[in-house]
Amino acid sequence: MTQRTFSQPATPRPDQDIERVLVVTAHPDDSDFGAAGTIAGWVDAGLSVTILLCTRGEQGGSDSGDREQIATIREREQVAASAVLGVKDVRFLPGHRDGWLEPTWELQRQIVEVIREVQPQRVLIQSPERWYDRLQASHPDHLAAGEAAIRAVYPASENPLAWPELIEQGLEPWHVNEVWIMAHPEVTHVVDITDTFGRKVAALQAHASQTGHHADLEGLLRHWGSGVAEMFSLGEGRLGECFHVVDLG
Ligand SMILES: [Zn+2]
Repeated sequence: MTQRTFSQPATPRPDQDIERVLVVTAHPDDSDFGAAGTIAGWVDAGLSVTILLCTRGEQGGSDSGDREQIATIREREQVAASAVLGVKDVRFLPGHRDGWLEPTWELQRQIVEVIREVQPQRVLIQSPERWYDRLQASHPDHLAAGEAAIRAVYPASENPLAWPELIEQGLEPWHVNEVWIMAHPEVTHVVDITDTFGRKVAALQAHASQTGHHADLEGLLRHWGSGVAEMFSLGEGRLGECFHVVDLG
């Protein structure tokens, strides 16, 4: 491997060098807005993808209906959205309330458990750093999920002394090779999602309780995707999703 200087952004490993990916987000629909096209591409390339949600999203939407009912609907929507992308392994962590998420030791331990079980080489998370120019992407729950996830990736997951009881449960330490961060203020990498864009639209349509009010959801997603493509000069008519990639060796 060539030595990078600190000023150079990390280049992700080729997809063929990755077998398993773990996606960690706060709410249903987060990974679909930020990365559905990219995730669909990973599935197409033969990668096994697990999506882990820290809450069931019961505070989402303007509807003041029963929270348990909203949570059940949103869980079902996430499973359907992920199925559109070819992802079958969708998990929800118990015990965390939407809107109240904090990077607690308990949340970190739960994420470490899943990392050690799934053994992903690549982990996709939300940014723990607030992006003031895109404040809605930096929802406090997203910051909390991102912070807990990055702490779980390093050092907790690879440290045998972090929660030694996990080793007794057969969950051995695991080293993650790279982290992809969504909605990070410093973007370093683009994925061309033109070919998977239709599945991104279908995945977000599956989150009907959150996206049903958009008169032109596809137009909105296309607008965002073409903005990213333009920023990275992907070419006329192309669509992109962007990330900050961290190489952990
Ligand atoms: Zn969210």
